Amino acid sequence: MRGKTKRTPQTDAPGERALIQRIRGRGSRKSFAGLVLGIGDDCALLAPKPGEEIAVTTDLSIAGRHFRLDWHPPEVVGYRTLARGLSDLAAMGARPLAAFLSLGLPPALTKAKGRKSSWLDLFFEGFLELAQAHKTPLAGGDLSQSPVAVADIVLVGAVPRGRALLRSGARAGDLIYVTGMLGGAAAGLARLSALAASAKRRSGHGRSVPPSIQRKMAPKRMADALAAHFYPQPRLAQGGWLQSKGLATSAIDLSDGLSTDLAHLCEESGVAAEIDAASLPIAQGATLEQALHGGEDYELLFTAPAEARMPSRVAGVPVTPIGRITRKLRGRPITTIRTERGAEPLVPRGWEHFV
Ligand SMILES: [Mg+2]
Repeated sequence: MRGKTKRTPQTDAPGERALIQRIRGRGSRKSFAGLVLGIGDDCALLAPKPGEEIAVTTDLSIAGRHFRLDWHPPEVVGYRTLARGLSDLAAMGARPLAAFLSLGLPPALTKAKGRKSSWLDLFFEGFLELAQAHKTPLAGGDLSQSPVAVADIVLVGAVPRGRALLRSGARAGDLIYVTGMLGGAAAGLARLSALAASAKRRSGHGRSVPPSIQRKMAPKRMADALAAHFYPQPRLAQGGWLQSKGLATSAIDLSDGLSTDLAHLCEESGVAAEIDAASLPIAQGATLEQALHGGEDYELLFTAPAEARMPSRVAGVPVTPIGRITRKLRGRPITTIRTERGAEPLVPRGWEHFV
């Protein structure tokens, strides 16, 4: 898949060549604004519009840490790998120009089993589905054998010069907003973990693979409970809208959890923040704890002046005011939460991955 035609011998299997051809076909059949040259040469060529800056983000996903081969179907791993990168572009108000993907995989994951697709094939199903939804071409990458499955994604985007949404622009008096609902991804992960535990008990010999959640997870209720964790929606339309309207003073995407990401935003802006527990949009089936500290919702957290006229929905997604930015005072916590018990420190304890 790399831009160069040279390939390492170990990945030069006919099946993989065919796969690369298929990816090329899917990626280049349509022309993408901003991509001059994709897979096939030594480099990809990108062309931002005049007056734009380039936004670049990179994210590493490692089996056993960011996903589990025995819990997450391959399509989900592919989808989430790209979603993480796109969400960072959304947080800057950037539009995607191209994605670059490097994969290190154990050989078993690249081989088709009889007439069944390989893990790698299914990974690309999920990846390319999201890429097409957001008009993001896969413009290059690399593929190598590795003892552990790793996926490294690079996203390149463009944003009008000097207009990117930054973490550093929040000011005392601004209101704090979030898009969508919070805690759904953490609730889904808890459900997945419970399913894996019960499958392990049933199989009785320590096998942690719950085949019921691999692909044909079927009962729709179950699929809904896992959807926020399996298929988070990068808020590119909402980030782009905020950027173009110049309404937001700062923004960050919720990858680690509200408590942790809000602390990052406050740190970069040199301010403090107060959240109202009662106003948090908590996802169905999620708890307050999951909404505050569960990661991977990939919603946008942003601030805007109190007098800004913020709509209650942007591009079909609810936007909810959840608190306010205050001055940083010595001896006071950076982030606090107001409940019926009064104000308490909001201790950042975002998601720690699978460790
Ligand atoms: Mg981010």
